[in-house]
Amino acid sequence: MNDCLFCKIIKKEIKADIIKENDHAVAFNDINPIAPSHILIIPKTHIESVYHLNENNSYLLSKMSDLANDISKNIIRATNGCRWIINTGDEGGQTVFHLHMHLVSGRKFGWPPG
Ligand code: AMP
Ligand code: ZN
Repeated sequence: MNDCLFCKIIKKEIKADIIKENDHAVAFNDINPIAPSHILIIPKTHIESVYHLNENNSYLLSKMSDLANDISKNIIRATNGCRWIINTGDEGGQTVFHLHMHLVSGRKFGWPPG
C-alpha cells in the first residue's frame, strides 16, 4: 500500500531503528516508547489488522511470534516478563493500519489496560 507508514519503513523509504528481521517480519523500535523496551513487529506484507488475517495469511502471525521470541530471548533478554499487544480498530486503539505487535518489556505493567 503506497501511503502506509509501515510499508514505507519496510521499503526503507522512511528510516526506522530496525532491530532484526526474518523472511516475513521486521522488528524496529517504537518512536514513542511506553516502556524501557518497546519494539514493533510487523509483517512484510501489508495487512490492515487482525481482522484481515485469514487461512491464507495467518502464518504471518507465527512469523511475527517467532521474531518476537527470538528478540526477547537473544537481544533484549526479557527474562522477567514482557507483554505482546495488538491494538485493533478504533476502540482497540489502533492508529497505524498495518498489522503490528507491540513487544514491551523492562517494567511492571498493570491490568486491566486503560
Ligand atoms: P497503534 O496505536 O497500536 O496503532 O501503534 C502505532 C505505533 O506506531 C505507536 O506506538 C507509535 O508510537 C508508532 N509509530 C508511529 N510512527 C512511527 C515511526 N515512524 N517509527 C516507529 N514507530 C512509529
Ligand atoms: Zn502497510
